[in-house]
Amino acid sequence: MSSVRSVVTPEKLLRPEVLALHAYHVPPASGMIKLDAMENPYLLPQTLREDIARLVADAEINRYPDAAARELKTAIGKVTNLPPGMDILLGNGSDEIIQLLALAVTRPGAVLLSVEPSFVMYRMIATFTGMRYVGVPLTDDFSLDLDATLDTIKREQPALVFLAYPNNPTGNLFDADTVLKIIQAAPGLVVVDEAYYAFASDSFIPHLAHYDNLLVMRTFSKLGMAGLRLGFLAGRATWLSQLEKLRLPYNVGVLPQLVATRLLAHHDVLLTQAEDIKLERTRLLATLDAISGVRAYPSAANFILFRVEKATQIFEGLKQRGVLIKNLNGGHPALIDCLRVTIGTPAENERFVSALKDCLHSI
Ligand SMILES: *Cc1c(COP(=O)(O)O)cnc(C)c1O
Repeated sequence: MSSVRSVVTPEKLLRPEVLALHAYHVPPASGMIKLDAMENPYLLPQTLREDIARLVADAEINRYPDAAARELKTAIGKVTNLPPGMDILLGNGSDEIIQLLALAVTRPGAVLLSVEPSFVMYRMIATFTGMRYVGVPLTDDFSLDLDATLDTIKREQPALVFLAYPNNPTGNLFDADTVLKIIQAAPGLVVVDEAYYAFASDSFIPHLAHYDNLLVMRTFSKLGMAGLRLGFLAGRATWLSQLEKLRLPYNVGVLPQLVATRLLAHHDVLLTQAEDIKLERTRLLATLDAISGVRAYPSAANFILFRVEKATQIFEGLKQRGVLIKNLNGGHPALIDCLRVTIGTPAENERFVSALKDCLHSI
C-alpha cells in the first residue's frame, strides 16, 4: 500500500523571508547601448587579448583550480599596496564575500547595518542569511548622518556594518573622518566596500593597520573584469583565516584565475581606461548639468545619478531609443525621479545625451 503524501509547494517548504524576496533583476540588453551596470566599456588591447587566448587554450580545465589561488593573490598584492601583515580572501565577485561575511556572523537577532540609499545586496543578503537589516538614512545631499548612525549603532549593536566608498547608487565619497568615527564606535566588523576604487581619490586600505574591526572589500568588476567574477576582502589574518572556513574551496575557477592574473600584470592598461572614464565622467556631468530639467549629482565612481521629472517615462523613452540605463524611481523614497547612467565610451555617452534630450522634448 502506498502512502499518499500531500503536495509539496514552495509556500509550504521555504522560509517566509525567501518567499518575500524579489530576485535581483537583470534586464535583457542585447542590441542596446548598455549603460546600466557600471561595466568598463572598453575592450582590451589586441595584443593582450591574443595573449589571453593563448593562456586559455593551454589552461588545464580538466583540473580543479588552485584552491589557494596563490599566483592570483600575489598579483593582487602587487597592485594593492596592503599594509604589512594584511591578508586577502577571494570571492566569486564581491557579492559572494558579502554573503560569506553574513553567514559567518548570522544568529538570531544579529544585525547588519548599512545606510540608505546604498547597494541593495546588503539588505538582500542580510535577509536570506537570517540577519536583521537596519538602514540608516543618509542626509538630503547623500552624506552620512553621523549622529543618527552612531545612535543606531549604539541601539542595534550591529555585528556587521557595510559602507560603500564611493556609494552606489549615489556616486559620492563619504567624509572619511565620519567613516573613521563609525569604525571606532562599531562593536562589530565594519566593511568598507571599495567597488569603485579605480575611479575614486581615496581608500581605506591604509587604515587597515590601525583598526582591528576594519575590513576593505574590492571587486575587479567595475575595472573591466565583470565577466570574470572576482572580488577580494583585505584585512587581518585573525579574521580572514576564520572566514576562509566558509569559502567554498573552488569558488574562483581556473579561467578567472589565469586571466585575472595576466590582466593584473597589465594593471596600468586598466587604470588608463579608468582615467579615460573619469575624463568622460567630468564631461558628461557638465553636459547633464547644462540640460534644463536635469539635476546631476557629482560622482567619484563610473556612473552618474541624476534626477529628472517623469523619470520612469524618460527611462522607457531611452530604452525605446536603444539606450539602457538604471531606473531607481519607485525604489527608495530618497531616489524619487532618479536615474543612474554608467559612463560609457564618448560615442555611447553622446548617443545617451541625444536620446535623453529627445525624450525630454517629446514627453
Ligand atoms: C557592483 C558592486 C558590488 C558587487 O560587485 P561584484 O561584481 O559582485 O564583484 C559590490 N558593492 C558595490 C557597492 C557595487 O556597486
